[in-house]
Amino acid sequence: MSTPTTLLVDTELERDDAAAAATALYLKLAGDGTISPLPSAGLEPVFDVLDPRLIEETGITAIGLHASGHRWRLEGQAAEMIDGGRENGIFCRYDGSFTIRCPECLAPLSPGDEGSDALEEALSLWADASDSAFVACPNCAAWTPLTTWRSPEHDFAVGHFAISLHGVHLRAFTDPGNHAAMALRQRLGDLASDFTVVYSST
Ligand SMILES: [Zn+2]
Repeated sequence: MSTPTTLLVDTELERDDAAAAATALYLKLAGDGTISPLPSAGLEPVFDVLDPRLIEETGITAIGLHASGHRWRLEGQAAEMIDGGRENGIFCRYDGSFTIRCPECLAPLSPGDEGSDALEEALSLWADASDSAFVACPNCAAWTPLTTWRSPEHDFAVGHFAISLHGVHLRAFTDPGNHAAMALRQRLGDLASDFTVVYSST
């Protein structure tokens, strides 16, 4: 069974700052009663939403907080982020397929396309050395950071800090000028609504 999931991915934050950002948002959301302070069991723990209004108004039932190279551990009656785990900062559709566009010429590129070796190389570099994850566009030959390639269908992003909202595809997030969506993004720390939205499932 799969659950629709909406991701907000911070594509700008540096790897070294991601765990602190995830921890700060955890403390805020657990502190004000939005989420349970205790993570669910399992390989990819999430925090159940406790605020009935949020569930009713949005359909979000659980929230995951992700930082590259880190995972959550239960510590007493709370959770703490520690080194380790398999979070690699690559977010895409459940089946791994996606299309992104060159930021220079807007030509589309998907894994497996002719000339996509540069993309596959950048993806494998990303988790270890995000500053060197560049893609050479097979169409215009421009050499640009992987983080600047955007997905028109919202099925891909890379970033070291991400928030997953489980239970719904919040299409309002990609509807410009939607005030309720902007307010929710602010509540989740996306103050300028500039995190990249990815629709996935878990
Ligand atoms: Zn190009």
